[in-house]
Amino acid sequence: MIQKIGQACCGCGLCSQICPKKAITMQEDEEGFLYPQVDVKLCVSCELCVKCCPVESPPKMNEPEQVLGVKHINTEVRCNSTSGGVFTALSDAVLTGDGVVYGAVLDAQWRAVHTRAETQNQRNAMRGSKYMQSSLGETFFQLRKDILEEKTVLFTGTPCQCAAISNFLKKERLREDQVILTEILCTGVNSPRFWQDYCAFLEKKEKDSILNVQFRSKDRGWTRETIRIEMQNKVYKKGYEKDPFCQCFAESLIIRPSCHNCPYAREGRGADITIGDFWAYTKLPEAFWDDGGISMVLINTQKGKQLWKRAAGQLEVCGSDMETAVCRQAPLKHPVWRNNRRDAFWRCYLNQGIEAALRKYTDYGVISRWKRKLKRCARRLLRR
Ligand SMILES: Cc1cc2nc3c(=O)[nH]c(=O)nc-3n(C[C@H](O)[C@H](O)[C@H](O)COP(=O)(O)OP(=O)(O)OC[C@H]3O[C@@H](n4cnc5c(N)ncnc54)[C@H](O)[C@@H]3O)c2cc1C
Repeated sequence: MIQKIGQACCGCGLCSQICPKKAITMQEDEEGFLYPQVDVKLCVSCELCVKCCPVESPPKMNEPEQVLGVKHINTEVRCNSTSGGVFTALSDAVLTGDGVVYGAVLDAQWRAVHTRAETQNQRNAMRGSKYMQSSLGETFFQLRKDILEEKTVLFTGTPCQCAAISNFLKKERLREDQVILTEILCTGVNSPRFWQDYCAFLEKKEKDSILNVQFRSKDRGWTRETIRIEMQNKVYKKGYEKDPFCQCFAESLIIRPSCHNCPYAREGRGADITIGDFWAYTKLPEAFWDDGGISMVLINTQKGKQLWKRAAGQLEVCGSDMETAVCRQAPLKHPVWRNNRRDAFWRCYLNQGIEAALRKYTDYGVISRWKRKLKRCARRLLRR
């Protein structure tokens, strides 16, 4: 039964949705990640959950057919997007053709949740990366209804979420040609509980309430990653190297355990289209560079190519290759590293609270700040 996969579980929730006996529910562990709990009294050991699980049964992988560097022609769109704004162009192509779009938004409690958009306004809330795990909730059955009503569906999410949708379509024998799967390149998803706690911590520290969060503001340019949190009376704005939440993310302390063994961190792709940041942009012609954001796009299937043709009119495009794509892109090579202080970090956080954990493990604490500075200096000296 599905519970046996333990920490390998990616938390997509497909097993709980398809169980014919309704024996599976998704429950949060102490880190705030969802895992299946099986009611053994209801379970009939049909193993459908395991057969459909995107970790146990990954869908077929394809080698990307095209690798592209991409910028949206509208600078305002690019400014409000994480990289080059390719998600907006792809979703516009679907929405103008009477289709629907699924993607992650932040809800009123600052949790990432997947929702459905029929209009550009609803879709705009999906723009921007939310660096914690998004919950799929009722997505599977909403999507089935859309397919039965013959709508074109663009689903966007992490590679494991796209794989879960792909397995769901096969299991339900739904028309796969109506659904275009677009995956983000994903280093790993952070703990929703830690993020919510961080929001509460920040509100208390700043004596203010949060109105809006942008994980990748372009205030200092695309390459100088900045978190921007709009509060009632001020704007909290910090570079990733200075913000404690972003430090925990970069130090791989709060990432879901399964991401450290992700089966999708490889060159072969399971979705129709893959989108990410073009971090190796200096390998593109110099005239194409700028700090407004450049997306990397991998077109992996014929279905992906067809949507791409409809979206390309809104985009400035520069051809590239897989060798360039993989450099500076860990998610195309191997799963994210696991910090050997991760367990100690969580023990500290769970026993002593978020402030103690931030003091000990990030620059929020003076001792930890100096330790990190000394380490950086030592590394620089060793490199000489
Ligand atoms: C957790 C996470 C890790 C990432 N790691 C990398 C990386 O290592 N390398 C890299 O090149 N790119 C990474 N990305 C992707 C990158 O940040 C951009 O999403 C991508 O460049 C698309 O850019 P855009 O300008 O078209 O995006 P936007 O318009 O900003 O589009 C955002 C898209 O991301 C989806 N999305 C946002 N948050 C989530 C979430 N929590 N779960 C599922 N889907 C979400 C939305 O549904 C939407 O489709 C990551 C994104 C996330 C959420």
